[in-house]
Amino acid sequence: MVPSISSPGDTHFDLIEPTSDAELRPEVSALLTKVSGQQLDTTRFERFSSWSRLTRAVARLLHVARSFHKQTDDSVCAGWHFCKKGLRTAELTKAEYVIIKAVQREVYSEEVECIEKKQDLPVGSSLRKLHPVMDEEGLLQVGGRTTHSNLPANETHPILLPGKHHVAVLLIRHHHGKVEHQGRHFTEGAVRSSGLWIVGPKRAISSLIYKCVVCRKLCGKLEHQQMADLPAERLQQEPPFTYVGLDVFGPWEVVTRRTRGGSANSKRWVILFTCMSTRAVHMEVIESMSASSCVNALRRFFSIRGPVKQLRSDRRDKFCWCYHTSEACCKYWRGQCGSLPSQPKMHMGF
Ligand SMILES: [Zn+2]
Ligand SMILES: [Zn+2]
Repeated sequence: MVPSISSPGDTHFDLIEPTSDAELRPEVSALLTKVSGQQLDTTRFERFSSWSRLTRAVARLLHVARSFHKQTDDSVCAGWHFCKKGLRTAELTKAEYVIIKAVQREVYSEEVECIEKKQDLPVGSSLRKLHPVMDEEGLLQVGGRTTHSNLPANETHPILLPGKHHVAVLLIRHHHGKVEHQGRHFTEGAVRSSGLWIVGPKRAISSLIYKCVVCRKLCGKLEHQQMADLPAERLQQEPPFTYVGLDVFGPWEVVTRRTRGGSANSKRWVILFTCMSTRAVHMEVIESMSASSCVNALRRFFSIRGPVKQLRSDRRDKFCWCYHTSEACCKYWRGQCGSLPSQPKMHMGF
């Protein structure tokens, strides 16, 4: 909007059409269409997340392309068709070569041109130290000095592949899964033994393992549950065995009496008393899992360790029964002696 010049004191502004405004520059859109010289554009490979699916898709594509040229033996496979016959191993291998060759021709176009013209590689080339050679399929391979060895050809001259390309990521993921999500060295060994030489493998494999969901799950830190607040009894400054927790463990077979033919065994349990303030431990042996045995063990414990303000245990039925029995004992003894001398105000909690 431009202010009107005719009346300086006037605050009125006239609206101007944007199309007729000379101050506004027209927006010009320039579109660029990049036509790749390759027949197979490797950017399409980024739509795949699995090496096996990519090879199967390319193998299907090659099969259909051949059927258009009538290169297939079967009369059923003619023109554009959904082939119900399974893919053969040779077709899959051919598809792998086509994919890798397309990647090499795109990334290492200068090097391929130099090798085809039998010239030296560019000075800044990352393949210069590897002395690459080209095989009969047109694939770039590592040169090396082991041509005359008895090793297989894919080990003496592995196929070169750029580590930053999506196809290299797919291949590393494929072999990482084949070695059951082992570490970087295992994965690198699997890739190398399959006849591939990935340029910059350390970073590529480490990056993939870092992002691998399965490895994250398997190698993740063990999580710990947030513990609840301590009960008030655990934080009291009281004499030992003022607040006591108890539990029973056992039984054990013990020899109780000798007989003429051998010995008779019976079972024994142990009541474990723990001081909730000092974590001290006191144990009492009981002869049976009955309430009377528990009450006797409690009485022995009170006689040795003194009065207890609170007993805390789990909700085992024997403890509940013992609780009601001891309440009855307390009432009886309070009636007899006025109060129980060892535990005047004992409370049992669960
Ligand atoms: Zn077919
Ligand atoms: Zn993994």
